[in-house]
Amino acid sequence: MAETVTNWAGNITYTAGLHRPRSPEALRKLVAGSARVRVLGSGHSFNGIAEPGAGGVLLSLAALPGEVEVDTAARTVRVGGGVRYAELARRVHAHGLALPNMASLPHISVAGSVATGTHGSGVGNRPLASAVREVELVTADGSTVTVGRHEERFGGAVTSLGALGVVTALTLDLEPAFEVEQHVFTELPPAGLTARAFDTVMSAAYSVSLFTDWREPGFRQVWLKRRTDQPLPDFPWASPATEKMHPVPGMPAVNCTEQFGVAGPWHERLPHFRAEFTPSSGAELQSEYLLPRRHAVAALEAVGGIREAVAPVLQTCEVRTVAADEQWLSPAHGRDSVALHFTWVQDTGAVLPVVRRLEAALDPFDARPHWGKVFAVPAEVLRGRYPRLDDFRALARELDAEGKFANAFVRAVLAG
Ligand SMILES: Cc1cc2nc3c(=O)[nH]c(=O)nc-3n(C[C@H](O)[C@H](O)[C@H](O)COP(=O)(O)OP(=O)(O)OC[C@H]3O[C@@H](n4cnc5c(N)ncnc54)[C@H](O)[C@@H]3O)c2cc1C
Repeated sequence: MAETVTNWAGNITYTAGLHRPRSPEALRKLVAGSARVRVLGSGHSFNGIAEPGAGGVLLSLAALPGEVEVDTAARTVRVGGGVRYAELARRVHAHGLALPNMASLPHISVAGSVATGTHGSGVGNRPLASAVREVELVTADGSTVTVGRHEERFGGAVTSLGALGVVTALTLDLEPAFEVEQHVFTELPPAGLTARAFDTVMSAAYSVSLFTDWREPGFRQVWLKRRTDQPLPDFPWASPATEKMHPVPGMPAVNCTEQFGVAGPWHERLPHFRAEFTPSSGAELQSEYLLPRRHAVAALEAVGGIREAVAPVLQTCEVRTVAADEQWLSPAHGRDSVALHFTWVQDTGAVLPVVRRLEAALDPFDARPHWGKVFAVPAEVLRGRYPRLDDFRALARELDAEGKFANAFVRAVLAG
């Protein structure tokens, strides 16, 4: 029996009802017998990327067993297609192992996150998809296909926008568990922010985030996440926070991960928000753009040039860095990137015109929008920003000749 659902933010109501198969056999049967299929992960995307369209089937893997199988000798984990990072991280840590990085929120599904190029921060940290070594898919006829890192087509198999099939399992590389301290500073002035200074600030720890509300120039907060096995350089450019901070000014910080340099396990410090607190919905919209890191300062100046338009609809803006990866559809594909993230108020009518102005300001920098967030960049412009798009098209034809998993969002991206 299908149920009607919205995404986490409530700005998208899916036109198809949600099906939750209870066994792998039921899943394969449902896929093989349906004309159009899309999977809903944890629903944390802000656009129509998961929408199957009229007559389609939206399916959730939440009722299947949430497999998490750690192989301590091989330092890998096999994780089911519906599992979220919070659960995965807890289980991996119990074996003394770790993922290299996490996003700001641990409640997002692993398969949905890597499908959209989700990332954390760190000049040396690639998107979360880069930990994946193997993908298991149920394809259009209900059969299972496995694609491993040694294969040429692996370049399209992980950050795939959900366009190749139902991801039923992923195998990820792990590393020994590590500890992280979080140090928060306030009021980083804009003066003297050259490309070199930007790189110095963003390299000050394993993962660094800058936050601003764009009401004034400069950054209201700097969050440094230092691995305790790496040195902590002086950070003379801003003052240490005197109280626990939330990225959105004025919001209570109780749900944020531990700060003030208290060391703790990697999965309790790398996300900004605690796993114990599960927000079932969020009064916000988000947009994000990844562009070559060498343009970071010029791009920030371009946003500063329209801050009188941005600030009234903004809750907070986060600046992160992402190391280049090889996934063909990754927004960080082939370039060390800076990611400019915007948490907007939840008012699509007010936000969209600002998104368009922002995209015009970032256009000279070849900005690639986050696949899971609100954007208005025309598909033909987007296509020009992905040099391996033809390879992805060929892979989609190979695995899904009839386009069973290609919804309107995917067809727009792949057209041509
Ligand atoms: C509060 C919040 C914080 C966030 N923080 C970050 C952040 O720090 N960094 C960042 O980069 N992004 C961030 N995001 C964005 C988020 O990571 C992405 O939208 C991500 O895709 C969410 O995964 P999901 O499973 O919830 O997505 P969904 O919207 O459920 O799905 C996303 C896509 O994946 C596909 N998909 C999901 N599961 C499967 C499967 N098993 N098989 C095939 N296709 C599948 C869907 O069809 C869809 O195309 C954040 C979002 C929110 C709401």
